Amino acid sequence: RQGTCIVTGASSGLGLAKAKALAETGKWHIIMACRNFLKAERAAKSAGIAKENYTIMHLDLASLDSVRQFVDTFRRSGRPLDVLVCNAAVYLPTAKEPAFTAEGFELSVGTNHLGHFLLSRLLLEDMKKSDYPSKRLIIVGSITGNTNTLAGNVPPKANLGDLRGLSGGLNGLNRPAMIDGGVFDGAKAYKDSKVCNMLTMQEFHRRLHEETGIAFASLYPGCIATTSLFREHIPLFRLLFPPFQKYITKGFVSEDEAGKRLAQVVSDPSLTKSGVYWSWNKHSASFQNQLSQEASDAEKARKVWEISEKLVGLA
Ligand code: NDP
Repeated sequence: RQGTCIVTGASSGLGLAKAKALAETGKWHIIMACRNFLKAERAAKSAGIAKENYTIMHLDLASLDSVRQFVDTFRRSGRPLDVLVCNAAVYLPTAKEPAFTAEGFELSVGTNHLGHFLLSRLLLEDMKKSDYPSKRLIIVGSITGNTNTLAGNVPPKANLGDLRGLSGGLNGLNRPAMIDGGVFDGAKAYKDSKVCNMLTMQEFHRRLHEETGIAFASLYPGCIATTSLFREHIPLFRLLFPPFQKYITKGFVSEDEAGKRLAQVVSDPSLTKSGVYWSWNKHSASFQNQLSQEASDAEKARKVWEISEKLVGLA
């Protein structure tokens, strides 16, 4: 049978390119989990994704109610769930003040980490029921959260500290709305959220891989300098970033190529390993990459998991 794959944030960039790459194989039905229905419909049409290969369902990760409603809607569709890809993200590098989700969490961590944390925890039950032979739960990570790389060392660096801000509710009421309790910085909040994404995958692997057989993985698809992720950045940055990545760092990857890489992590029979972080070398061959010390800290992963459970109402 056709596999069913949910992908969050499929209305643009990497998520859309990946939906297109998978749909083209004819082997997948894509559930595009998006906050803007019309935009998603237009994006699917202009990417040429055949009507029978996708369904758009509303999901706003900045609202836990919306996450729960999405899960209900998906369950009512009667489809099995074979692969879940947590891809959506916001990046607010120029924000001077924090913005907040419906529940009052700082927006970058609230959307990129807490929204996806609740979504994947709830949908795990659905994945367990699927009889698909190679079930996978994927979260898109980032090099910027990995301080063992050059890009990860551009300040402000990711650092979750002792998690005092996250434990405090990340709402800016008792202390600044940053995971480490430090001064608000939008670029750092994004990097911190990506560290949480990568830690979450490994914690899923440790807790649930053996019992469920699901492969849990994260990836860094390369620098896709042309996507809307950088829409909040200053115009000069948006002008210079793509050529800088193309000619100086040579880390640039097109949306199409990145979409194919993500599609590979979803369906390639050779990428079934769980608990890993995939990257690609300059010849576009995938390999198992090393995470930074913080992004592979098992004790921190456990704490992030437990605090996040409380924040999203699972514990
Ligand atoms: P885009 O901005 O093009 O895509 C982000 C997607 O997330 C959009 O579809 C957006 O929806 C969606 N989204 C944002 N907020 C919400 C929300 N509250 N609820 C539901 N959906 C939401 O960026 P990219 O394609 O570049 O980013 C995709 C992933 O790739 C991210 O996880 C990012 O961290 C990661 N990544 C990107 C890199 C790059 O160089 N671009 C490098 C490494 C990782 P809408 O269209 O409605 O705005």
